[in-house]
Amino acid sequence: MPIPEDFINELKSRTDISEVISGYVRLKKTGRSLMGLCPFHSEHTPSFSVSRENGFFYCFGCGVGGDVITFIRRIENLDYVEAVKLLADRAGMTLPEQNADNSMTILRNRIYEANREAARFYNKQLYSPAGAAAMGYLKKRELSEKTIIHFGLGYSPASRFELVNHLRKKGFTNSELIAANLANQTKNGNAIDRFSDRVMFPIIDLRGNVIGFGGRIMSDIKPKYLNTSETPVFNKSRNLFALQFAKNKAKGQLILVEGYMDVIALHQAGFENAVATLGTALTAEQSNIIKRYCDEVVICYDSDEAGQKATARAISILRPTGLNIKVLTVPNGKDPDEFIRSYKDQGSARFRMLLEKSGNDIEYNISKLKASFDLNVPSQRVEFLTKAARMISELDNPVERDVYISRLSKELNVEKNSMKQLVDRGIRQHEKKQYSQEQIRAENIMNARNDRLNSEKRFNLRAANAEEALISLMILNPDAAVFVAQKVRPELFVTAFNRRIYEILMKRAESGLDISMTSIAGEFSAEEMSRIAGMLAAHPRENDAVAAAGEYISILEEESGRLTYDQIAAADNETIMEQLRKMKKKKQ
Ligand SMILES: [Zn+2]
Repeated sequence: MPIPEDFINELKSRTDISEVISGYVRLKKTGRSLMGLCPFHSEHTPSFSVSRENGFFYCFGCGVGGDVITFIRRIENLDYVEAVKLLADRAGMTLPEQNADNSMTILRNRIYEANREAARFYNKQLYSPAGAAAMGYLKKRELSEKTIIHFGLGYSPASRFELVNHLRKKGFTNSELIAANLANQTKNGNAIDRFSDRVMFPIIDLRGNVIGFGGRIMSDIKPKYLNTSETPVFNKSRNLFALQFAKNKAKGQLILVEGYMDVIALHQAGFENAVATLGTALTAEQSNIIKRYCDEVVICYDSDEAGQKATARAISILRPTGLNIKVLTVPNGKDPDEFIRSYKDQGSARFRMLLEKSGNDIEYNISKLKASFDLNVPSQRVEFLTKAARMISELDNPVERDVYISRLSKELNVEKNSMKQLVDRGIRQHEKKQYSQEQIRAENIMNARNDRLNSEKRFNLRAANAEEALISLMILNPDAAVFVAQKVRPELFVTAFNRRIYEILMKRAESGLDISMTSIAGEFSAEEMSRIAGMLAAHPRENDAVAAAGEYISILEEESGRLTYDQIAAADNETIMEQLRKMKKKKQ
């Protein structure tokens, strides 16, 4: 059941796209549009633009775009109806009853219910005789009863059928349990428990839904940690463990640790601003989420080699967000959980000392670099300074750069000016490299997109470009849309994808309905909306829209007689000759 036209119009008038996006991205006014760092890819210089006037956003870096509903669909990982509902709530409107549900929403809600019931079941098992070993493990880690309850920890029995049986009795179907990834499907179509003989860590989103689980094995079976895979409600690169607690305790700072047990130990010790990724390396999406809740992030990974590599990676992902980054190294090769336990009652105070002492990321990188050189050897001093200058050149803030230049030149007794020259050279190289990398990536992404959504485009670029200009013109100048709709039959469009867009716009123009990005968002996927936003970004509003439309229409008329690639491939010679004769006649 589509959402009523009036409702979408009202929602559109009550929703300012720049206000909504500002809740996720820091926007700055540049000319007529607002620019910011794209939340959908990692970048240093803003290529994400928002046009308040025309109600759309578009990233020139990765090609993602659309209207405000599409933005919410993407950033909150929701389907169309759910995104409308979220925006409606925000605007103080209530979605009509019959639209509140669709099959995807129903399935998601069933998964949330199944997960909640599973979390209860696992928790109960922890207190049963079967869960004794798991409980022993948690007690050995010195977790209090209160902490176990706070995090809703549990135990999945070894048998591989107990959870499925339990949830089947509660009315869940096998296919729902498989969709929730609580069960695996066997060869003969049955469902068996996914998690067996593991300590269970429920993963909870910001709205309080159980979206998935992490499980630590109690035996020697690999893998040690098993997580829920991708489901309709769970995307591990878009969520962080314990963020639902940490966001209220952040006070400007989040601590990023490696594992579930580190988070839990830190929360128990009073550091309730700790979060962890969900069994994967930090992603750009997660770093954007982190940025929503704090200005400073302290990376506190294991001090082993793998942990240090992960630290360097996390720094490079977090840097572009502009967050203040600090690195906390736990001494003696311990992880935060072990460290706190090893000091008994003093654990919390000791960790706070480490936290206060933690240096920022550039200090961390320089001190690591310094340790790898013998600074008494002149050639090694030069190499160290050159590499350190390269690191400093990556800082965006000139004041910050100056601080490190001064400090290092004093420390190694070199002229500040020569150090500064080294840094400046690094900046120039860096800018050059960054520009070409972004350029290449943008082109690749755009090309890939072109092929997938509109594979016919490359066979007649001139016609396809005119089609796109016409589509953009109709959306940006709704008055001219009526004119175009009267003049252009859909058959004139050469590419099927653009024709489909045109047909929708044409029908709306003929029925006197609103034409805007928001009014058509329900007809297209988020990816298709990106393409349409790209057309708008490439063809700004025309002063004389009707005259411009006339030009595009004549290009379409010229080109429409040409054979498409498919026709050429399929046609026999006779048909081709016939077509050529027709074209000749037209030209005369
Ligand atoms: Zn982007």
